[in-house]
Amino acid sequence: MIRFENVTKAFADGTVAVDDLTLEMPSGQITVLVGPSGCGKTTTLRMINRMIDATSGRILIDDTDVATVDPPDLRRGIGYVIQNAGLFPHRTVEDNIATVPRLLGASKPEARATAREQMERVGLPESFATRYPAQLSGGQQQRVGVARALAADPPILLMDEPFSALDPIVREGLQNELIRLQGELGKTIAFVTHDIDEAIKLGDQVALLRQGGVIAQFGPPQELLESPADEFVADFVGRDRGFRSLSFEPATALPGRPVDELPDHVELVRDSDGVATGWRSAAAPGEVFPLGGTFTDGDSVRVATDLSISSPVGIALRVDGAGRPTGIISHSDIARHL
Ligand code: ADP
Ligand code: MG
Repeated sequence: MIRFENVTKAFADGTVAVDDLTLEMPSGQITVLVGPSGCGKTTTLRMINRMIDATSGRILIDDTDVATVDPPDLRRGIGYVIQNAGLFPHRTVEDNIATVPRLLGASKPEARATAREQMERVGLPESFATRYPAQLSGGQQQRVGVARALAADPPILLMDEPFSALDPIVREGLQNELIRLQGELGKTIAFVTHDIDEAIKLGDQVALLRQGGVIAQFGPPQELLESPADEFVADFVGRDRGFRSLSFEPATALPGRPVDELPDHVELVRDSDGVATGWRSAAAPGEVFPLGGTFTDGDSVRVATDLSISSPVGIALRVDGAGRPTGIISHSDIARHL
């Protein structure tokens, strides 16, 4: 169990990222921290493995105050997965994963065996062992990131927006796999996302944070949906689900550069069998756009700034002159035209 007791984090410049947070993440469950950008999710997560130290208050893992444990020792028991996987670009998939058991003192053959085992666990074919990260899709890279985090068999996994940069279909697949893995391994998982749908899907418990690192509501997802504590919760839960009050900024034209953040609020539309048939966006209420689509020179697009345009990950929205979405395309598709 991870327990925050009156934890505050004030950065040197005076920013209070987390304010008097008290929260319990039950062991063997997925606790999701969700909330708008800048509300303190990453700071909260990183205080668990002491990448950031709290200004005041205590964080306990089982009954041990993390402040009393050396960070390297602490991190042996805590896997960490971030957006875009954070893989070593010049190491193969196998070496990326084997690094962890090697650091823990395993022999080379043992570390290799662990790497192969973890690859299988996260659904990566053996033939990928000798590939480099750049030769993998975004979803495959995230699988390697998860495999690497699991390689030390830590009881705790911290996941900071691990699927946020992936296209909706790949993302859904990985969410399902995480649920499966969790059922199999029973890890204690703290999962950060800004996407309320992802929070509701994955969380045994969901902590919705508001700006300033304050909990607006904490409980099982159903509770947030059915009895929101206040207007902020109702709005956050309802807004993302119902696509109210969202708008696009005018898009900047390609070619050349990543121009803006990818809007968060793209949702898949399904038929009665649950098969994805299209997507919709808050920017065009009531309209459903087909999946797929190709990029035409001169189209305007929005892409996420934190993704490399040359890597085959992520998605971009194609927009018309008024900034309204007209298609959804992959980065690799754009890259081919640059
Ligand atoms: P989130 O992950 O929810 O988007 P963060 O935890 O990254 O939010 O940041 C919370 C707040 O703390 C933001 O206002 C951010 O600008 C601020 N912040 C984060 N890191 C630092 C830092 N090293 N110094 C000063 N302010 C920071
Ligand atoms: Mg963050």
